[in-house]
Amino acid sequence: MENNIVVQGIPFDLNSSFRRGPALAPIRIRESLFSRSANMWTENGLDLEEDSRWQLLPDLTLLDKGMEFAEIERQTNVHLNDGLRVISLGGDHSITYPLIRAYAKKHEALNIFHMDAHPDLYDELDSNRHSHACPFARIMEEFPKIRLVQAGIRTATGHQREQATRFGVEMIEMRELGRLQQLVFDGPVYLSLDLDVLDPAFAPGVSHYEPGGMTTREVLNSIQKLTGQLVGADIVEFNPKYDPQGITAMVAAKFLKEILGKMLKV
Ligand code: MN
Ligand code: MN
Repeated sequence: MENNIVVQGIPFDLNSSFRRGPALAPIRIRESLFSRSANMWTENGLDLEEDSRWQLLPDLTLLDKGMEFAEIERQTNVHLNDGLRVISLGGDHSITYPLIRAYAKKHEALNIFHMDAHPDLYDELDSNRHSHACPFARIMEEFPKIRLVQAGIRTATGHQREQATRFGVEMIEMRELGRLQQLVFDGPVYLSLDLDVLDPAFAPGVSHYEPGGMTTREVLNSIQKLTGQLVGADIVEFNPKYDPQGITAMVAAKFLKEILGKMLKV
């Protein structure tokens, strides 16, 4: 089992601030992944259909209201304790906090590479400290030793810039994306991928349209060129309600394939 990967769906969007819908994402991503319109090969030459080192799990069942985070953390702990690496399909971005709680227990010097239009560093939003706009504030309060690098940001407010300074967050904003070329990680890296980092032209199925974002290719290149050891990832904020053509579902499935390719290729 060592070095194997599980992919878990987390159908949870109760901490979305504007539109609901990401709870419907995992099933759509799964359909696109196995769609006969494409094959299962990664760009670096792995056939995921034949590769038994990864496994798609059923979605988490989150029936106990108010206990969703505890359940996400518990399930993720179980997999990590089995020596597995975990890729999670959101869900809104609030789920990254319980996921990192599990990971931080396992990895002493964890790095997080966070791609997003938004810094998600609000102390609270709409009186909700677990809003999908807040997970990285909670993470950095609880785990100040984590190195957090954000890329693609184009909505930073004065408050969020103060929070970034307070927590020592390295922010590579969209307007200076060239700095990504110099980014080097050492040790374990967790990738948190909010689909709204993409320009809405590439991924209309998100809850918050923030023009001026990355291309699908730029995100793929970032995944493929990532340094350090990729130990886990999440793909969040896909909202199928705004994806009538299924474009964004296909983008999410492509990112999943390439993350698997990056993690499995030795
Ligand atoms: Mn986000
Ligand atoms: Mn976002």
